[in-house]
Amino acid sequence: MTEVEPKNIAVIGGGITGVSTALFLQSDGHKVTIFEPDEFGTGTSSGNAGVISLGSCIPTAMPGIPTRVPGMLMDPYGPLSIRWGYLPKLAPWLLSFLLNCTPSRAHRNASAKAALLDRAHAAYDLLIRLADAESLVSRRGMLKVYASEAGFERAKFEIEVMQHTGRRFDVVTSDEVRQLEPGLAPKFVRGLFFDDNSGILDPGKLVARFAETFVAGGGTVIGTKAQDFSGNGPYRIRADDMEHTADVIVIAAGSWSSRLARQFGTRIMLDAERGYHVMLPHPETPLNRPVALTEHSVFLSPMDDGMRLTTGVELGGNEAPPDYTRVRRMISRVGESVNGFRSEEQSVWLGFRPSTPNGVPYIDSVPGHPNVYLAAGGGHVGMTMGPISGRIISDLVAGRDPDIDLAPYRVGG
Ligand SMILES: Cc1cc2nc3c(=O)[nH]c(=O)nc-3n(C[C@H](O)[C@H](O)[C@H](O)COP(=O)(O)OP(=O)(O)OC[C@H]3O[C@@H](n4cnc5c(N)ncnc54)[C@H](O)[C@@H]3O)c2cc1C
Repeated sequence: MTEVEPKNIAVIGGGITGVSTALFLQSDGHKVTIFEPDEFGTGTSSGNAGVISLGSCIPTAMPGIPTRVPGMLMDPYGPLSIRWGYLPKLAPWLLSFLLNCTPSRAHRNASAKAALLDRAHAAYDLLIRLADAESLVSRRGMLKVYASEAGFERAKFEIEVMQHTGRRFDVVTSDEVRQLEPGLAPKFVRGLFFDDNSGILDPGKLVARFAETFVAGGGTVIGTKAQDFSGNGPYRIRADDMEHTADVIVIAAGSWSSRLARQFGTRIMLDAERGYHVMLPHPETPLNRPVALTEHSVFLSPMDDGMRLTTGVELGGNEAPPDYTRVRRMISRVGESVNGFRSEEQSVWLGFRPSTPNGVPYIDSVPGHPNVYLAAGGGHVGMTMGPISGRIISDLVAGRDPDIDLAPYRVGG
């Protein structure tokens, strides 16, 4: 193994991407500081559906989506809503999203995501071992279920793309769905079973465990926001009334990353795809694994403290206050899909998926600043991609070959 020259590195953001990046950099012998204003394991990387989803290479921008958007927006139970006041700000992102809804772009974007997903588990497992966190992960796969043959038929292109990118899954019958998940109502005619996916039983605890491991390994945490940057290597980072110096900066601030990248003269296409969850008690027969109810565009994830119901997308940026109407509305809708469903709301939550229009994250240095890196844009699979993004950044910092074609993840690429 080649020697890595130790550097002073600041990681901005302590979600799954930031803590993972910090751990990989630390294991190379660098002196690493994380800037994170909130408690670890409380933000977007805590409230997600918890699926380490190696099968999820399908971008949201897919053929057919543009014609379905008006219907989705009008459906009070639909998977998409927009805060109309945010539309002018969102327009360039939305336009780019629409341009990505062609079959060829969908194939290209899916392949770019798939290359990361293929490497995601190995990177996760290294950190899970390092943090002694195996008990927080359940390795029983993930199931997508379809309530009608027509619904399954609509997934044809998606299935074709997944096959093309080498995703590992089986098409299962209604009987097999019942065997896998006896807790589901007997109404599902088909399913897709992804046996290599995992379910995180408490994503917030996992992020906090990674952060504890980082601190135990000698890492420093500054519990405040990085506000602005100056210098050109070494860089000065201002946070409240203190100043910190670093040779290398990694921006891993989720959906807030574009503001920070702009300070280095770089404009990136990144916005928040807001998403909600509601925690419910486990049903009579708890689910064995995360289940996607495709007809409702929701995930049901069995977790340590109950069953988590997560919903689709609300476009509206980072600032608008939460509106829990839709996620609460889904509780009654979903009840008929689960035997012995229990609808008592335990808590409700809003998070911000850091999303690019094409669903492909940025993992690269910032143009003109070879020592400033960006690791952001994991979107719907950001919890899955955090560790692999961090591993690649550590390779780039060390000058090692990351063993993946980085062209799709380039800033401005
Ligand atoms: C409802 C829902 C369900 C989801 N389900 C899944 C799933 O099942 N599987 C999956 O893989 N993904 C899922 N995701 C996506 C996933 O949660 C996100 O993509 C991922 O958590 C993003 O991680 P991150 O570390 O990049 O960003 P974040 O978790 O948002 O972390 C960024 C951090 O940066 C900090 N920050 C911001 N600005 C600054 C600053 N100036 N200085 C210092 N710190 C700053 C913030 O406080 C924040 O803690 C889901 C998301 C949602 C909303």
